[in-house]
Amino acid sequence: MEKRIIYLDNNATTKIDEEVMNAMQPYFTEKYANPSGVYYFAQEVKKDIENARENVAKLLNANPDEVVFTSGGTESDNMAIKGIAFANKEKGKHIITSAIEHHAVLNTCRYLEKNGFEITYLPVDKYGIIDIDMLKKSIRKDTILITVMYANNEIGTIEPIEEIGKIAREKNIYFHTDAVQAAGKIDIDVKKLNVDLLSISAHKFYGPKGIGALYINKKVKIEPILHGGHHEKNRRAGTENVASIIGMGKACEIAIKNLKDQSYKMKIKSLRDKLEKEILKNIPEVIVNGSPEKRVDNTLNICIKYIEGESVLINLDFEGICASSGSACTSGSLEPSHVLLALGLPHEIAHGSIRFSLSKYNTEEDIDKVINVLPGIVEKLRNVSPFWKERKNDAK
Ligand code: PLP
Repeated sequence: MEKRIIYLDNNATTKIDEEVMNAMQPYFTEKYANPSGVYYFAQEVKKDIENARENVAKLLNANPDEVVFTSGGTESDNMAIKGIAFANKEKGKHIITSAIEHHAVLNTCRYLEKNGFEITYLPVDKYGIIDIDMLKKSIRKDTILITVMYANNEIGTIEPIEEIGKIAREKNIYFHTDAVQAAGKIDIDVKKLNVDLLSISAHKFYGPKGIGALYINKKVKIEPILHGGHHEKNRRAGTENVASIIGMGKACEIAIKNLKDQSYKMKIKSLRDKLEKEILKNIPEVIVNGSPEKRVDNTLNICIKYIEGESVLINLDFEGICASSGSACTSGSLEPSHVLLALGLPHEIAHGSIRFSLSKYNTEEDIDKVINVLPGIVEKLRNVSPFWKERKNDAK
């Protein structure tokens, strides 16, 4: 019998919704025209793309012409940050970001540093929230952009985006937020938040991989990073990824409906809370990372002291449970997560981190399975851990 997979790595990616799949299907086989064509067959496809754009705009409370389709979160982040930097380099070369951004933002900033820009990396408190006073103090005459993520992918902490937006607006500085982990999980209103640019990615909320969007406020001019045809109103060249755009539109439509449904949100939250409560009850010396209150409902990041997170993951995998040690990008590297280090955790504790991220498909049975097997795995690993032995001897 095939072993059932218990998938708890939904911040890495989600299973595509069947409704999304069905919406995409005709664009591979029947409606395959290039939307740039002048004939009716192509114009129909173009119309469907514009409908999808409207759904993306609705999710963000934006205008449809402020939405540009990209190949995902990474491209949206690159486009926003490089696009503002290159368009405003005569005005200034200073950018402010946070120490806990995704690598799509951090490495884009590092690239700009090599090209003459100066970057301030704001520290965060023990919950992963940026210091607003530090942000205010970091603003300079030549600051052109603030880029701070909406929700962190590893620990789920939600940043004070509205407050940052207000400061940026007062100081006349562009503000970008990477909302890849917020979209579909919390309400997003670009107008209320005062953001100029916002990145999202469909595969994080039951859409297909390889498609995303960047919201660009209509008053904001950016330098494109892809050059070619006149697609996306000259903001992003390349033939549209039609089927995926349709899928993203459908995923947004479903997300809008689900975000209005309190019981939908409560189901995910109560499963996450049960998992957290039972782990803390049954396993000694576990730390929960991230903000207890300002956190997306689906994410639980813990450090199990005195053992390696990677060893726990391998043992969970034997049980058919998929979790991660943090970001998909840092998996496989020996360095502990930059996010956990930024919280002030020592290396040895940060190494013991596990992230469980839930989806609408998870059930009570999934959570019970983790609750049942995790204490045994931890006990087994701690029994062979020299650090655990030392800890026990110290306690005697
Ligand atoms: N930003 C955040 C916060 C993410 O979690 C991710 C993906 O893990 C990305 C950006 C990159 O998105 P994509 O995989 O669509 O390129």
